[in-house]
Amino acid sequence: MGAIPTGFISPLQIAGIVIAFVVGACFGSFANVCIYRLPRRMSILNPPSHCTFCGTTLRWHDLIPILSILMLLGKCRYCKHPIGYRHFFVELLCALSFVASFWRHGVTVHSLIVAMTLVGLIVAFFTDCEWYLIPDEVPLAIGALGVFGALVASLSRQFLSPSLINIVGNQATLLSAIMGMLVGALVLSLIRKFGTAIFRKEAMGLGDVKLTAAIGSHIGLSWALVGYFLIAIMIGAIVGIVILLMMRKRPHHYMPFGPFLSLAAVVCLLFPETITHIVQSIYGLQPVYL
Ligand SMILES: [Zn+2]
Repeated sequence: MGAIPTGFISPLQIAGIVIAFVVGACFGSFANVCIYRLPRRMSILNPPSHCTFCGTTLRWHDLIPILSILMLLGKCRYCKHPIGYRHFFVELLCALSFVASFWRHGVTVHSLIVAMTLVGLIVAFFTDCEWYLIPDEVPLAIGALGVFGALVASLSRQFLSPSLINIVGNQATLLSAIMGMLVGALVLSLIRKFGTAIFRKEAMGLGDVKLTAAIGSHIGLSWALVGYFLIAIMIGAIVGIVILLMMRKRPHHYMPFGPFLSLAAVVCLLFPETITHIVQSIYGLQPVYL
């Protein structure tokens, strides 16, 4: 676990927060491209960023994360078509995700991996809300980050001195990550199977199963993984009841589950110890070590 600032914030920490915010905002720009293009099966590299209404290729001063959209008052510079404030919120959320990750996990490899994973979860959240779809690239990227982090963690514990292990930071070991991935996929597959049998229609997409497998590689086989399922189901149930109460005429309206999985993952990735302690205290459990 890296240093968690307490009390006064030093100038170095302020500089760190600013850097994390700026880098996170840049990742937010990329997340916006992914949210728009991946569900449309478009390349995320070509063509370069352009206004989706008038087609004008955007210049560097149109692409400054967070600031450009504020300066342009949410409209295209060239055709004045509204861009939509989702772009702004995605960039801000990604910037805050980076700050939160480094605040929670210190300046470590683990922080960077968690921060990039949070960006992936933000993409999954928005594509599932808008398209009821989690593009395969998202769980693939999140899973790759999880396995890579676990590999680095396992190797560092084998070959590095304790001081260098601190730079890698907390991360599930490779065995734990693979087990977390398998258990995540298994549990979601079972929920999907039973849900489909009970509701007599597809209760959950395969994208949710893939996303949970990918998230499992980060959380590892631990009580935090139990917490992850509990939080996702709890948020899903609360939002489901609210939607049912608000839309009485359409009780069978399809509700994507990916956003709840993403939110639960954010909580578990930022506060793994807290979630572990809560789950252990609820069930009187002992820690799992792999
Ligand atoms: Zn335009």
